[in-house]
Parts: sequence; structure tokens; C-alpha cells
Amino acid sequence: MGKNLTSRSEDYSKWYNELVVKADLAENSGVRGCMVIKPYGFAIWEKMQAQLDKMFKETGHENAYFPLFIPKSYLSKEASHVEGFAKECAVVTHYRLKNAEDGSGIVVDEDAKLEEELIVRPTSETIIWDTYRKWVQSYRDLPLLINQWANVVRWEMRTRLFLRTAEFLWQEGHTAHATRKEAVEEAEQMMHVYAEFVEEHMAVPVIKGTKTESERFAGAEETYCIEALMQDGKALQAGTSHFLGQNFAKAFDVKFASKEGKQEYVWATSWGVSTRLMGALVMTHSDDNGLVLPPKLAPIQVVIVPIYKGEEQLDAISEKVEPLVKELRSKGISVKYDKRDTHKPGFKFNEYELKGVPVRLAVGQRDLANGTFELARRDTLEKESVKAEDVVARIETLMHEIQDNIYNRAHAYRAEHITEVDSYDEFKVLIEEKGGFISAHWDGSSETEDRIKEETKATIRCIPWNVEEQEGKCMVTGKPSSRRVLFAKAY
Ligand code: AMP
Repeated sequence: MGKNLTSRSEDYSKWYNELVVKADLAENSGVRGCMVIKPYGFAIWEKMQAQLDKMFKETGHENAYFPLFIPKSYLSKEASHVEGFAKECAVVTHYRLKNAEDGSGIVVDEDAKLEEELIVRPTSETIIWDTYRKWVQSYRDLPLLINQWANVVRWEMRTRLFLRTAEFLWQEGHTAHATRKEAVEEAEQMMHVYAEFVEEHMAVPVIKGTKTESERFAGAEETYCIEALMQDGKALQAGTSHFLGQNFAKAFDVKFASKEGKQEYVWATSWGVSTRLMGALVMTHSDDNGLVLPPKLAPIQVVIVPIYKGEEQLDAISEKVEPLVKELRSKGISVKYDKRDTHKPGFKFNEYELKGVPVRLAVGQRDLANGTFELARRDTLEKESVKAEDVVARIETLMHEIQDNIYNRAHAYRAEHITEVDSYDEFKVLIEEKGGFISAHWDGSSETEDRIKEETKATIRCIPWNVEEQEGKCMVTGKPSSRRVLFAKAY
């Protein structure tokens, strides 16, 4: 398998599209904007899911499942919510097909028109809050801490594998609380949970913050987010957590009797991460040779490739390798021993490099004689010869070392790509020539934000979390500003 990847410097976008397909993560399907996630890609997604699911449960959440379809009338109950999502909804109008009378094929049966059209969920607040009305009566029923793993559909016009698809997989948490304070704390907590997952498992550094009003989720009072920086200097929203106030409780009449016996509206949050995280993972770490995966999410952490001629040599190698495979597995390390005789070692080396397997061991006749393995690490492409008796310990160390190394590398890149700027002229040059995050003062108005977006394509990615206030002047209008915000061009 030749890699023949376009290089990142030549065409970053092309490099990404090629890599996703060549590394067997996903491919385009016959349905516009919808992708096929292939087994190797799905295996990574499953690892992400498993870890996130664990973290959700550790923070008290339970999984449930709600319908794929939402009656149109539900969607319109919360005004800003429907306004935000209306332009990208897929609508089911009929429930039956029939043979065309002129024999030209199958057509929609007009007699089978739905009385009320159904929306394929773009997100589930409405159907869930319609349900919560039945679940919540008293303060004793609160909080409700629920998550669902699901697919959603948003009719996106410009789609890209993983980063933006019309159908995507995600989890959506929907919680209900007795007080504003508790709901705000929940929304903030989930932002922290997401940041911890993305940094510690995906090895992708993120910036936590809140969205400006114009970037907020439709129906939210506050949107918390984590933002990552890709290797081309563009930002990617990696996760969002919303404080929804009482908007959905009011729209769906969800009230509870408080301890004092008063009827009050419930406070809400929702939060989600999607298969977009796969795109973040690929774009943050990978290089011109292919994927680079963090050991914590790599479906195969170690691959062992025998180099041999004839069965006898292979048997001698297998005798050494098989106990090693067992030992590594007993330590929780996933290993593949690739002794296929249909492919040459060089082909296999290429394939595992392309697929980002963190550690590769090769064993040939000389290694057998010397009692060694040739070890290659994917992140640095360095090779070393390791004594057989040291190999397990070395691999265990490397799992941590590689995880840390790629995090540090991404962190260093980001640190080099956060620039403080005070003049709009300088901003315009920098956003074009260097990209990355630009930290600048802004007067807090949507007009200024829109103007910057129109003139430079940069948007405010977030108002960074927990950053001290700093007096300044808006770089565009000169009006007073109390803190810097982060701008970037974004996916
Ligand atoms: P939202 O419900 O809009 O806050 O989005 C929840 C999560 O899904 C965020 O992390 C988004 O980045 C992600 N997301 C939104 N739209 C898409 C899409 N078309 N494809 C993949 N992920 C998406």
C-alpha cells in the first residue's frame, strides 16, 4: 500500500480528506452529506464513547433513549430554538410508497400523508422536555440527570467527513434542576468533563469558555464550550454545554412543587459532543505519513510484524512472539500480531504507520539470534532495539510517553499560535498570515462581531473561562472592553 498522501503544507484540507479515507476511518456514502464510518474509525469512536460514558456515570448521569422523530408542533414551542434549527431540518411527510400507475417505478403514496409532519431530530430538547413534564412533579423528582447516545440530522450545506456531516453520532445530556444555581453548575461541570476527556484521552489541548450571544445555542441562556486548534491554525469547536434557563420548562410546561409547596418552572441544561471529535483527533496529531493516535484511544496499541522466509522461520518467531502477545494483553495493552503471508513487511509497516498504531515491533532472524525486537514509535518515527526481557516494560512506559508527547506537541503548537493583538490592522494581517487564536479586546456588541466576521472570516471562538478582567479598548471601535476574547477562523 503506497501512502501517497498529499502533504499538510501542500493542501491541508486535501490531506485531511485523503487521510480519513486511506486510514480506513470513514468514506462518503451515496447519501449526500452522510458518511460511512468504517470498522477502524468506529473502533476509535467506541473507545471515546466508552470513556465518556464512564465519566458521565461517575458524575451521576444515566442513559436513556428518546424517539428519532419529533412532531413539528413540538419544535415550534420554543421560539428561538425553532428559529435556529428550522433551516436545517429533514421532514417526514408520508409513511408509504406505492407503484406508480404508469409503471415508472415507486412513488410516494399521496393517500398516506401524515397528519402532522415529523422532524428527524436535529437535537432532542423538545421531545425530551415534553417527556419530562410527565416525570417531574415535585422537588423530590429532581435533579433528572440523563444522557442519550444517538444520531441526529442537521441538513448542513457544506459537509466534511466527521467535522460536519448531515447525520452525525453524538451524545446529548439533558438535565433538569430545581434551581438556577444547580443548573449553571451542571452546565459548567460538563464543560470541565469534556475538557478533561479531550485533553487526557485525546491528548488535544482545549480552551474553555463561553460563547457570545450570536454564537450561542438556539434556546440557551449561556453556552459553554471547549475550543481546540488544528494544525492549519483553524479552530474547532470540540464540545458544548448549555445552560437553558427555564426556556424549555416554560415552553413545555414542566413545573414542580418546591419544598415550600410552590409551583415553579424547572431549570435545564443540555450538552453534547459528536463524531466531530474524530476530526479533531485526526487534525491535531497526524502527519504527512498518516494518522498519529494517542495510545489511550488507539484500537491497536502495539503491532508485531514478523520478518521471515518460509514457515520454519515464522514458527521460530511465533514461538517468541506469542507469549509476548499474551503478556501484553494481560497488562491491558491491545496487540495485533500480523503474520499474514499475503503481504510483505514493508507493506505492513506502511499500513500501520498510516493507521497511527503507536508502537510497532518487528522481529527478524537477527533479532531472534540476539534476543531483541526492533521497536518503532509512531509519534516520533524513532527506532530502537530493545532486549526481549525489557520489551514489555518499555512498551508500558511508551504508552504514557507517547500520550504525553503528542499532547505536549499540540500544546506547544497552540502556545505559538495564540497572539495578543491591539490593533485591527494587525489583526487582519495576522489572521490571514498566521492564523491561530487571536486574543483581542472587543466592545461586546454583535455589530462589531459581525463586522469582524464579514471582513476577516474570523469569529469569536470564546470568552475564555476564569480569566481575570483586564481593562482595554475594542480593537475596532475603541469602545471600552473589560476582557480579551479569542478570535479565530473556525471549522
Ligand atoms: P450543539 O447542539 O449545536 O451545541 O452541538 C453539539 C456538538 O455537536 C458540538 O460539539 C458541535 O461541535 C457538534 N456538531 C454540531 N453540528 C455538527 C455536525 N454537522 N457534524 C458533526 N458535529 C456537529
